[in-house]
This record gives sequence, structure tokens and C-alpha cells, in this order.
Amino acid sequence: ESQLNPNYSFENFLEGDSNRLARSAGLAVATKPGGTSFNPLLIFGGVGLGKTHLAHAIGVDIKDKYPEKTVLYISAEKFTQQYIDSVKKNNRNDFIHFYQIIDVLIIDDVQFLSGKSGTQDVFFHIFNHLHQNGKQVILTSDKAPVDMQDIEQRLLSRFKWGLSAELQNPDFETRVSILKNKLYRDGVEMPDDIIEYVAKNIKTNVRELEGAIISLIAQSSFNKKEITIDLAKQIVEKFVKNTKREVSIDYIQKIVSDYFQMDIDTLQSKTRKRHIVQARQLAMFFAKKFTKASLASIGSQIGKRDHATVLHACKTVDNLSSTDKQFKKYVEDITKKLSI
Ligand code: ADP
Ligand code: MG
Repeated sequence: ESQLNPNYSFENFLEGDSNRLARSAGLAVATKPGGTSFNPLLIFGGVGLGKTHLAHAIGVDIKDKYPEKTVLYISAEKFTQQYIDSVKKNNRNDFIHFYQIIDVLIIDDVQFLSGKSGTQDVFFHIFNHLHQNGKQVILTSDKAPVDMQDIEQRLLSRFKWGLSAELQNPDFETRVSILKNKLYRDGVEMPDDIIEYVAKNIKTNVRELEGAIISLIAQSSFNKKEITIDLAKQIVEKFVKNTKREVSIDYIQKIVSDYFQMDIDTLQSKTRKRHIVQARQLAMFFAKKFTKASLASIGSQIGKRDHATVLHACKTVDNLSSTDKQFKKYVEDITKKLSI
């Protein structure tokens, strides 16, 4: 059982600027599994941008081209569960052996392994064995390797051996073609202005884009209503409301510096005065929490610091807010101000 979903094919994975690199790397890997320098191939990006789909597409295509190869798709969560069970049942070695004889191993959402040192350890050994034997490893993650937390260094360095390819937010044209393709496959007709209205307003998650179209179709057929722009507006509004508006790093810096009654230049300055350092660390912490920006990009926007400084800031804020009452109140107050 490969656990592959044949609907998640390359054909159904529409190409756009946002995914061109990842998609072509995937195709290259599918043509020559284990035989390219993209090993491992790590696909990363935000929720609903097509990581799982693309990972399946690679597996499906390999199975098609090389029926004799064993291809296995598994989520990191399930992999972890299997590992824990094998330890309980005293057959850890069987577990390792099972994975070491696979030709193409696809592990989805490896960020799930963070903090799970036992599973990371066993995966490290499986990975090395597969890699040494020219087998292909494909991984997906919601973050780039530099931004992954609580993953052992030796594993992170393996992740960086091959290619890390990002799936970005699709542009408007790609969103329209994804919707048209979906409607075509489902045999549903919909006026262009409605498709475009939905594509214009849902920008950061293909799953939600499709979800809005599905509920539009459902609403109109249950209520025997025509699909109109008004109906589209109502539905899109629900989707947009449910997805929290993303705050910008500039906005976070403004809120934090206002709260401490200092200006943004002071917050970003090189000073080591404690209250200023703390304000800066809080800004970094909230940028990490409320935006999708990488640690490196947060650092460069908040006083030109590096990613290690941001990581340190996040840990400091975590620690202080559990040991220092006053600090905890800062975090709560600012959280409230940011979530209006
Ligand atoms: P992720 O794993 O990144 O959260 P998924 O792979 O589950 O995202 O994708 C969410 C939905 O969006 C799926 O139904 C998938 O088929 C669809 N999707 C994402 N990107 C594309 C694309 N480029 N073309 C067609 N469908 C896409
Ligand atoms: Mg996924």
C-alpha cells in the first residue's frame, strides 16, 4: 500500500510563478528518483498551498513510470505513531528495516517531528541508509529548514543537502486557473466574473479558494438560487472573516513601541538598555507569532538582526512570560491590541 492519492496528480497541479520551481523540481525527481541532486527534495510553504498535493503527484508519477519501485507516502505524524508503537511492541528494528527497503520515501509535514527526539533519531538512521543507497527522499514542511525549531542540527543539515523549494501564494491568474480547472473536472459551469470575484478576494490559501467555490455551488443548488455576485460576496465574506487578517511587522513594531512609549527608531536601535531590548524582543516574538515571515526576514526588518537573535528573542519572551508577572502582562496587553 503506497497510500498515494491518484487525484493529486501533476496534471491537476496547475503551474504558476508561485510554484514553478517546486513543481519542476518535483517533475525532475519523478523522472529520475534518487538520480538527481534534489535529494532530499524538501517542499515548504504555508497552509493550503499544495505541499501534500505536490508530494503525492511526485509519488504517483514515479509509480507510473517505475511500477517496480516501492513508493511510500506517510505523514510525519503517522510515522511518529508507528515508531512509538514499534518501541512499545519491542520491534523497533523491524520498523527501521521496513523503511530502509523503500525506494521512494515521502514524509509529509516534517515540522511535526519538532521536539520528538526519539523519532528524529530513528528517521536520521533511515534517511542516511536510503540516501547512501541512492533512494529518493521527499519531505514537506510548513517552514524552511533555517526556521525549523527543535529539530536536531544533524537532521537539519541533511534536509539542506538537496533542494528546498518554496510554494508561495499563487498570483491572481493562477488562482483563476486553479478554480476553472476544478470546476471543469467537477463538470460545473460558472460565470467568469464570479470565478474572478472569488479569486480576487481569497489570496493566501488554495484550500479555502476551493472551499469557497464548493460552498457557492452547494448554496445555490440547495436553495435553488442562481449563482450571483451577491451570493459570492456573502460566501467570500465568511471565508475572509474566518481567516485572521495577517498583521504586518511594521504594525507590530508600531503597537509595541506605542505601548512602551518609545519611537520605532529606539526600538530598532543597537542599545542594550533593558527595557528597550525587551520591547524589541517582544516585537520579534509577535512577528513570529502573527506573521508568516521567516526568522531571517523578521530580524532584518526589526533593526537588522540575524535569525539567531530572533530565535533567542522568542525563547526569552517564552521564558519571561512564564516566570515574570509584569512581563506576562505586557504579552497579554499587546496581544489584545494586536488582535482587534
Ligand atoms: P498543504 O498540504 O500545503 O496544506 P494541500 O496540498 O492540501 O496543501 O492543498 C490544498 C488544496 O489546494 C488541495 O485540494 C490541492 O489540490 C489544492 N491545490 C493547491 N495548489 C494547487 C495547484 N497549484 N493546482 C491545483 N490545485 C492546487
Ligand atoms: Mg498538507
